[in-house]
Amino acid sequence: EGDFSVTPWEAKGKIDYDKLIQEFGVEKLGEELLSRIERIAGGLHPLLRRNFFFAHRDLNLVLNDYEEGRGFFLYTGRAPSNSPMHIAHIVPFIATRWFQEKFGANVYIQIPDEEKFLAKKVETLEEIEKYAVQDILNIIALGFDENKTFIFRDTEYISKLYKPAVLVARHINFSTARAVFGFDNESTIGLIFYPALQIVPTFFEKKRPLIPCGIDQDPYFRLQRDIAPRLNRYKAAEVLSKLVWGLKGPETKMSASEPDTAILLSDPPETVKRKIINAYTGGRATVEEQRRLGGVPEVCTVFHWYSVLFEDDDKKLLERYHACRTGKLLCGECKAELVERINSFLERHRARVKDAEKKMHLYLYDGKL
Ligand code: SF4
Repeated sequence: EGDFSVTPWEAKGKIDYDKLIQEFGVEKLGEELLSRIERIAGGLHPLLRRNFFFAHRDLNLVLNDYEEGRGFFLYTGRAPSNSPMHIAHIVPFIATRWFQEKFGANVYIQIPDEEKFLAKKVETLEEIEKYAVQDILNIIALGFDENKTFIFRDTEYISKLYKPAVLVARHINFSTARAVFGFDNESTIGLIFYPALQIVPTFFEKKRPLIPCGIDQDPYFRLQRDIAPRLNRYKAAEVLSKLVWGLKGPETKMSASEPDTAILLSDPPETVKRKIINAYTGGRATVEEQRRLGGVPEVCTVFHWYSVLFEDDDKKLLERYHACRTGKLLCGECKAELVERINSFLERHRARVKDAEKKMHLYLYDGKL
């Protein structure tokens, strides 16, 4: 196991991503594949360009399918809970949307509105209701194509999901599920069945599914890849990201249940300001020292957030890096700019959420496909 542990339920400790590539048996998202994506898409999203998405499974085959006219589809999801969505949650959706836009692929978004209840993270199903709707609106607000995006909730769509889930579930025995997901004797039997439901959407079309997600989600789809050939279906392809740092420092987790580690999509401007001011940086103890020695952007969460979400321009990011290293830039100014950017992003996002309320019905999957 080593000194780190990554399962779909928790990510803790210092993460060695190269070691994870080895351990998970995924492939590095290297130069060759990136330039192929760039050639086809006419550019690269910063999350790909900067290697935040750093690994994959079968992405080369997805590109073959695309170039040879077979196409592919995208699959992602979000389990609603009483912890609202934060900035890190939107990263896989941003990547999914980008692939949709550049490759014209359909996107299926599963809303497992039973999972947190089964995991005993929330007390009632009713409680999940408002979070499910809020999450769906937040997702739509990220700009998905209404004609190519299908959002479905497990509790509503179960009649279409159950039969294929049964086919899947017959191929997963308990010892495998326990090894992959870390179930124990306290796990509810509902939670133990849940992985079957999460695999089903990978069979929605007779094309290869591509799943953009955090590396911590890979175990689910490893299981899918074991089963798919037995059901005569495509193995899921994945494009895998690192995890966005929480505000407490390098590779700390952003957790909605500990609000000071994360910026929530619902945070008002003053809260954003307070959280960023208190964020862990690579700054020195005094201004004098910072001027003399420079900061350490490599361990700075503020710099990390610029590089992941809040500075698209590579040249400007590099300028910020050097200004920090040479002591020209001080943390106060650097943080104030980030606060501005986050707040203007959130303001625009919330306007798009309002807009999404009017067109939510266009995205909900009614099974016509
Ligand atoms: Fe981080 Fe900016 Fe301070 Fe450098 S100047 S350590 S990038 S907050």
